[in-house]
Amino acid sequence: MHREHRSRDNWGLLMAQSLAMVRKVPLCVLYALSPAFPEAGKRQFIFLVQGLVHTAAELEAHNIPFLPRLGDPVREIPALAKEQGISTLVTDFDVLRVKRQWIENVADAVSSTTGADVLETDGRNVVPCWLASGKKEYAARTIRPKIHRLLPDFLTEPSELSVHPHPLKQRPATASLEELQRSAKKHPGPEPCEWPSGEQVAYEALKQFARTRLHQYGKGRNIPTNPVTSRLSPYLHFGQIYAGRVALEVLKAGADRESADAYLEELIVRRELADNFCLHETDYDNTGCFAPWATQTLEKHLRDPRPALYSSEEFERAQTADSLWNAAQLEMVRTGHMHGYMRMYWAKKILEWSETPAQAMAQAIRLNDRYQLDGRDSNGYAGIAWSIGGVHDRGWPERAVFGKIRSMTFNGAKSKFKIQEYIDAQTRASLL
Ligand SMILES: Cc1cc2nc3c(=O)[nH]c(=O)nc-3n(C[C@H](O)[C@H](O)[C@H](O)COP(=O)(O)OP(=O)(O)OC[C@H]3O[C@@H](n4cnc5c(N)ncnc54)[C@H](O)[C@@H]3O)c2cc1C
Repeated sequence: MHREHRSRDNWGLLMAQSLAMVRKVPLCVLYALSPAFPEAGKRQFIFLVQGLVHTAAELEAHNIPFLPRLGDPVREIPALAKEQGISTLVTDFDVLRVKRQWIENVADAVSSTTGADVLETDGRNVVPCWLASGKKEYAARTIRPKIHRLLPDFLTEPSELSVHPHPLKQRPATASLEELQRSAKKHPGPEPCEWPSGEQVAYEALKQFARTRLHQYGKGRNIPTNPVTSRLSPYLHFGQIYAGRVALEVLKAGADRESADAYLEELIVRRELADNFCLHETDYDNTGCFAPWATQTLEKHLRDPRPALYSSEEFERAQTADSLWNAAQLEMVRTGHMHGYMRMYWAKKILEWSETPAQAMAQAIRLNDRYQLDGRDSNGYAGIAWSIGGVHDRGWPERAVFGKIRSMTFNGAKSKFKIQEYIDAQTRASLL
């Protein structure tokens, strides 16, 4: 288990259990808590481990030992697999470079030392990423029909995890959950934030959203002063909830068509487009991923005077001349989350205030991955590439600095919602 941190609705776990049942053998979950992950700090590690504590309890209640170790997964997982004499390793799918390398190295080591089969299961996407499309998609409009065609086959009710009838005879030496918690707290980085973590709270958050805010999503999702979005992204990012479960609850909730359709478009089409992008584009986190039209237009405007240029520290401390941008930055630093509309504005302004698009990409990714609970996610890399490099977008009327990349302005935001309310709320909260 490394991306899908849950006992419920977990296709990889269900598949492993069905294989173990047929062979009448024990089933256990191997987990290695890596000592480091790019840009992740104590905020993210503590959230992750708190979630694992709940999942471990659920697994143990199903007679499925949760066997965690502290250390490099590429060393720890093959070692555990060998000690246990496993016959099959089922693992989660991931598209990020660092995770693909882990999976490849673990799979090689496990199959060469134990002879076990290694199977990879996509428990993140409703339509498995490999099946939705075998190539890098151009835009939402090109992947949407492919996903919609396969959705009836894949948006199905997962079966329930059974209490496993074949116990593990001897538990290997593992780290305790307390050791995992201590290790999480030692990381440097932003302070933990107030999000409760774990699969049960994720499910309750979903139920509450479906009951109270979903029906406003169609009209209200771009209004940061009255947030009606689901705020499920940290849970989805850490795999504490399955996107298919979210979709099934949304369909059951009886919301108006506009709201349900708009929500499922983000949850399924846009989210799966992001995984498609990172799987097929090795340069997902630098300007090498921009389409030729975007590269050309940004180069043409490289020497345009910028309205301002800010250092990393000024960005980080929310010290720009734009009070709306500063408020969004403060929201992210304080809460580990930023409203979706403000994420677009935030990243586009970083382009406007950086010497080059490459610097803007690096700056936005560093801040996003460091402060957002849901950072270090394909959604983040795709969202930033969309904002700065027009990825999955089209050309717009030409403007200074942006060229044909879609721009967003302070006055544009002002016409959409009461920006002063948002600025005051974020500034006040960050002073407390
Ligand atoms: C510059 C920028 C950076 C972003 N960084 C991240 C990030 O680090 N992690 C992250 O999960 N999302 C990121 N997004 C996508 C999106 O803004 C967030 O997923 C969303 O705001 C999370 O809030 P929510 O759960 O209330 O979303 P809701 O509006 O309730 O949407 C439900 C779910 O659908 C998915 N989703 C929504 N919008 C998008 C989108 N545009 N692309 C892909 N999936 C989407 C998310 O998983 C989200 O939780 C980024 C977008 C931009 C423009």
